[in-house]
Amino acid sequence: MLAELDSLKATALAELGRLQDAKALEDWRIRYLGRKGTVTQALRGLSALPLEERRALGVAANALKALLEEGYAQRLQALRKAELSARLRREALDLTLPGRPPALGRLHPTTQMLRQICGVFASMGFQVVEGPEVEWDYYNFEALNIPADHPARDMWDTLWIDGADPQGQRARLLRTHTSPMQIRVMEQTRPPVRVVVPGKVYRYEATDATHESMFHQVEGLAVDEGITFADLKGTLYEFAKALFGVERKVRFRCDYFPFVEPGVEMAIDCFACAGKGCRLCSGTGWIEIMGAGMVHPEVLRRVSYDPERYTGFAFGLGLERIAMLKWGIDDIRLFYANDLRFLRQF
Ligand SMILES: [Zn+2]
Repeated sequence: MLAELDSLKATALAELGRLQDAKALEDWRIRYLGRKGTVTQALRGLSALPLEERRALGVAANALKALLEEGYAQRLQALRKAELSARLRREALDLTLPGRPPALGRLHPTTQMLRQICGVFASMGFQVVEGPEVEWDYYNFEALNIPADHPARDMWDTLWIDGADPQGQRARLLRTHTSPMQIRVMEQTRPPVRVVVPGKVYRYEATDATHESMFHQVEGLAVDEGITFADLKGTLYEFAKALFGVERKVRFRCDYFPFVEPGVEMAIDCFACAGKGCRLCSGTGWIEIMGAGMVHPEVLRRVSYDPERYTGFAFGLGLERIAMLKWGIDDIRLFYANDLRFLRQF
């Protein structure tokens, strides 16, 4: 029996020395020290032996049990230590490595241009307001001196929501310009009025490099006592210099818009060729950048402003057109094609 215990001890210790992981160690513990383990069974078997034998073997078996328990505890600790250092090696951080910068978003070129333009006018005392994109015929046309049978309606290819109303006025449409906000602002305030209105406008037309069915305009309106054409020129000249450089020259020529009288189109001297003539300015040396004019007395009467007392000027520009000129973009469709190669350049 003692010999059996000795060989048990030898096998158990040899196995213990070879164990490489916690799972194998646990199996080993169950095999030898568990409730049905070899050593436990041996101890239990002692009770069947005569007293003398029992005493001698009991001491040896208990010693073996203590020895194996001790061995188990040491092995467990060693394995844990090894596992920990392996994990530390595996998960080691190199604190000297440079970090990965997060990809930052940026503002869409349209938004950047919009903020820049509104910023210029805000610095001159204009307030920025916005209006609805779904608009009544009344605000988009009628109140702006463009009645239902007026040929000037052909200037805007309209997207109707309700279908054109022969009586005008009560039909809804997608606004074709930001000018309806002139009426809405004046209906709700008394002079002095100084506002710029940025926003989306819609046209029912085929798209090409210079036309989109949706684009942005910035509308401007100033109404007060004693406003003259000189105020219009001075304000828009300041704007042109702020956006296209202080050396810019401006040119005003007669143009027609039903809600202004007189109406003008404003051009700046070509910043690419300094007026000599190039592809950008089609050889003319001038680039048209917006339409403007003195607010038509009929429009003032519509909102119960006395045209004998108040005068004003209004202007409207195409935001994408300004951005294309400033950044040398040759196709308006690029703005809304969501091509990151384009958008990341701004
Ligand atoms: Zn030019």
